[in-house]
Amino acid sequence: MSASRDAKVVVVGAGFAGLAAAVSLVQAGFQHIQILEANGRVGGRVHTTRPFTKNIIELGANWIHGQDGNPIFQLAKEGDLLVEGMSSSKIMCLPHSVTPRDYFFKQGGKQLSAETVDQVCSLFSKLTSKAFDSELEDRHKALSLGSYLDAAFAESPLAASEDSERQRIFEWCKRSECTDEASSSLYEVSASQIGYYIALEGGFFNSLGPGGYQAILDILLKCLPSGMILSNKPVKNIHWDLEEKSQGTESREMHPVKVICENDEVFEADHVIVTVSLGVLKQQAAAMFKPALPKSKMDAIERLGFGTVDKIFLCFSERFWPEDCAGIQLVWDEGPEDKSVYTSQTEEAWKEKWFKKICGFDTVACHPTVLCGWITGREALHMETLQDSEVGDTCVRLIRSFTGWSVPDVSQVLISRWGCDPHTLGSYTFVPHNVNAVKEHEALAAPLPFQNKVPESKPLQVLFAGEATQVNFYTTTHGAYLSGVKEAQRLITLYSDKTLSH
Ligand SMILES: Cc1cc2nc3c(=O)[nH]c(=O)nc-3n(C[C@H](O)[C@H](O)[C@H](O)COP(=O)(O)OP(=O)(O)OC[C@H]3O[C@@H](n4cnc5c(N)ncnc54)[C@H](O)[C@@H]3O)c2cc1C
Repeated sequence: MSASRDAKVVVVGAGFAGLAAAVSLVQAGFQHIQILEANGRVGGRVHTTRPFTKNIIELGANWIHGQDGNPIFQLAKEGDLLVEGMSSSKIMCLPHSVTPRDYFFKQGGKQLSAETVDQVCSLFSKLTSKAFDSELEDRHKALSLGSYLDAAFAESPLAASEDSERQRIFEWCKRSECTDEASSSLYEVSASQIGYYIALEGGFFNSLGPGGYQAILDILLKCLPSGMILSNKPVKNIHWDLEEKSQGTESREMHPVKVICENDEVFEADHVIVTVSLGVLKQQAAAMFKPALPKSKMDAIERLGFGTVDKIFLCFSERFWPEDCAGIQLVWDEGPEDKSVYTSQTEEAWKEKWFKKICGFDTVACHPTVLCGWITGREALHMETLQDSEVGDTCVRLIRSFTGWSVPDVSQVLISRWGCDPHTLGSYTFVPHNVNAVKEHEALAAPLPFQNKVPESKPLQVLFAGEATQVNFYTTTHGAYLSGVKEAQRLITLYSDKTLSH
């Protein structure tokens, strides 16, 4: 029997990272794998639901970011889950003749011209691309993303115009970008470090078939023997490096890792792969690991950012927006994205005006009477504390006052609450201003014990996967997947080296 067959591996978390790790190990011949999942369902931040009709609503991940080199795209393609060659109107279940576009409104019911909006949005996109492509000028490199964008916009001819409309649309773009950066404000985000994020070629792909993201999870689940995943098993403690302490008193067979669940159930292991979110690590790492995690890892957990992005689904009895409307975007005269507002607002003030953080309401594929609002950061966290009905009513009031349209009351409301979900505690990772992305992502990913410090300890006792551990693909499902495969590969290599040396 090969050593890998005997090795006991516990995987903590059954999101994409945990499932990918387990599938890789199973395929390499590992036979003693247990996945411990805190929730009653698998998938983590992928959560496909059917609250309104038989058609799906994604409360978490929705898009496949890029195609080339994207294992999630590859899985979907091989599983025949992609609805290829769809035009955007088809994705939204519209007639072929209709090309959807966003409708932008100023406060008070004035619609902004599509030309002005396009002008500003394409400048915004050019400026952010410069940061993502690591092409920032030296004078901008030390700035936050928000300050860099302000400085670059102020120098553009668009900012010179007398009327403030272009400036206001630019501020809206900043609010909307907070959704990608999972931040309260772009002044929290580093301008230079987002250059380490690699956008895979092929654009956003959202034409997954009727099974949505769950169908991709199902492909992985089919590769795992039944009984491998234990649900409703939140892990409380991970004791590691046990062998050393008990040398001489205990038998040599003792496993170096003990994983203890909230219900005090104990799982002994040779290796544990921890895939819990950065939000969970921020709250629990100090108490979870014994001995405590090394300082470099605790620093990484503290320094990397983990923000909240939520979705607000509003289901109406009938469609009240034009057929070609892809979304209703809200441009405030003074918004929470303005530097002066963000830095000076009291907690009381931003809580009272939490709804100003909603970017707008997008139409939803295959749900002709549903809109989806996006909200981020501290205002999203506050929104999560409110009743669904209060959030729904507030949204309807907003849409009425911005569009001037006749808007019926909402019939059903569904809200994601990623920030207060105890098994996620946020949505995804960002790199804050003045934080070194490569150093901190790598420190988070480094397995324990550090072999250069304690060479006599058993290697690879605690491994870390999950989107936050990825330097180039953090925030994404493919980042999570690749991180799981990477940590599994460390173990596969360890045991293939052992087999060779025997
Ligand atoms: C609103 C939203 C929209 C998104 N949109 C996209 C998108 O369009 N495209 C994209 O690529 N990505 C998107 N993402 C990000 C993507 O969903 C994540 O990056 C990815 O799913 C993370 O996978 P993971 O395995 O690293 O972590 P998770 O999915 O969080 O998995 C970790 C698992 O660990 C479990 N766990 C936590 N604590 C414990 C414990 N103590 N014991 C045992 N188990 C525990 C959790 O329940 C969870 O199942 C989105 C995320 C959100 C929230």
